[in-house]
Amino acid sequence: MNQISAVHCVPVFSDNYVWIIEGENGHCAIVDLGEAEPVLAAIKTKNLKPQAVLLTHHHQDHIQGLDSFLRSHTVPVFGHADLQSQGVDHPLTENDQFSIDQIAGFSVLETPGHTQDHLCFYNDSVLFCGDTLFTLGCGRLFEGSAEQMQQSMNKLKQLPDDLTMYCGHEYTEDSLKFALHCDPENQTLIRRAKEIKQRRAQGEQTASANLGLEKLTNPFLRVGDPVIRTAIEAYVGHRIENDTEAFAQLRHWKDDFDGLKRLPD
Ligand SMILES: [Zn+2]
Repeated sequence: MNQISAVHCVPVFSDNYVWIIEGENGHCAIVDLGEAEPVLAAIKTKNLKPQAVLLTHHHQDHIQGLDSFLRSHTVPVFGHADLQSQGVDHPLTENDQFSIDQIAGFSVLETPGHTQDHLCFYNDSVLFCGDTLFTLGCGRLFEGSAEQMQQSMNKLKQLPDDLTMYCGHEYTEDSLKFALHCDPENQTLIRRAKEIKQRRAQGEQTASANLGLEKLTNPFLRVGDPVIRTAIEAYVGHRIENDTEAFAQLRHWKDDFDGLKRLPD
């Protein structure tokens, strides 16, 4: 069952996105809820009827608006069991499936790395990946290890190419700079860069993308690719034996590139 008619983007805070999945007859589900007011306004404008909230992880910029939202819309809240104290009443775990009336069915992937409780939701057309996978980047390792995040990347990489992924933040232009830095000859990436710059110049979001294109251009999904592996080895100055170490070093490289404090593995 997949009756999704549209996925609407609601910007909240400085660079977060809430996604509203619209099904039939105005039914909708909301993915993450950092802030309630802009979501309530969008629902009212589009005359939508909320049926559920899906939460990807516990960070405040993804859940802070939940209480306020539930005061006017009493709907089930799907998310990790660890978020039950935050309002989740439909706890989910790896490979669980659930469906929302007149919208769609979804499968659940546990994707620890950015946080330990991170979940992604997907079906045969969409993937909501929160702060695990970003267009041309990936989430920082706040709670999990590089090994966990690399395994999470592998799970997402195995999903079909024709899915559209929807991420939790508008980080694409920053991620693009690093992707071009470590993969400067990638013609698909160069073409994509032009499109991203055009879309941002027109004020459009670029946090949704075709997953197949992502697999060809996102360095964090390609640590086993000889081009990316060679670039990582040049950065660290020695040979790398496995994908987990390659991923860990690529993540460090990006943090260095961004001038961020080095996070522990
Ligand atoms: Zn987060």
